[in-house]
Amino acid sequence: MRIEVVTLFPELIRAALGFGVIGRALTRGLAAVGTEDPRVHTSDAHRTVDDRPYGGGPGMVLKPGPLAAAIAAAQARLPEGSPRICLSAAGERFGQRHARALAALPGFVLVAGRYEGVDERVLVTSIDQELSIGDFVLSGGEIPALAVIDAVVRLLPGVLGDERSSAEESFAEGLLDWPQYTRPVEFAGLGVPDVLLSGDHAGIARWRLKQALVRTWERRPDLIVKAQLSREASRLLDEHLAERAAARAATIRGEI
Ligand code: SAM
Repeated sequence: MRIEVVTLFPELIRAALGFGVIGRALTRGLAAVGTEDPRVHTSDAHRTVDDRPYGGGPGMVLKPGPLAAAIAAAQARLPEGSPRICLSAAGERFGQRHARALAALPGFVLVAGRYEGVDERVLVTSIDQELSIGDFVLSGGEIPALAVIDAVVRLLPGVLGDERSSAEESFAEGLLDWPQYTRPVEFAGLGVPDVLLSGDHAGIARWRLKQALVRTWERRPDLIVKAQLSREASRLLDEHLAERAAARAATIRGEI
């Protein structure tokens, strides 16, 4: 896989990709990330990449010419048909399903905006999709681009030590992750659930699924509504709800 990032700050992208799982994946050649700076595509002495917005108002807008030329140069290094994605607070919300879809491609272009954003005509002529990483405004698209790269590259075969890691973590089944524990067995007066020490693999799998269901139910009920729960998952969630109702009833009886 090859990812091209169009950015005014290529060093920022390169520097951030040198660490941990992603850094190792790039060093091992499991993915490659290139950059294209719109400044290279300017022709004036000041290498101007921004201009005032038509209609007035604060801030500057990325000029269409250098940006479109940079996107074309980045795309030329990728297989034909590779999508061009602009990071934008106004885009579709990026999620694990986007990461999975992008991880199946041989390449894509990420365009990081700056200033007040990108001239609309570049979005019309040179961009296939706009993605947002959340309902907040950052000063540039580099951090969102890095978030997308990280989420995608860690899904590539061979990147994580154990392929089960990405299959079992949050959102893999449309659910949040279950609680994790490691040694020591007691920390700050708190222990580890007995089942995790039992060696009973089926019991552990059931406990984890139930914890993931309960967490998702409590923290992100919208995900439960969307998730296609297996019969076992529905049964475990019903079991939890029945236990919770029984506990509440007991509390009320105790209070009376
Ligand atoms: N005027 C824009 C608005 O109100 O949406 C904000 C522009 S922002 C200061 C500059 C750039 O940061 C954007 O062009 C975009 O590339 C990036 N950006 C900011 N917030 C983002 C988010 N939540 N998701 C993705 N990209 C974002």
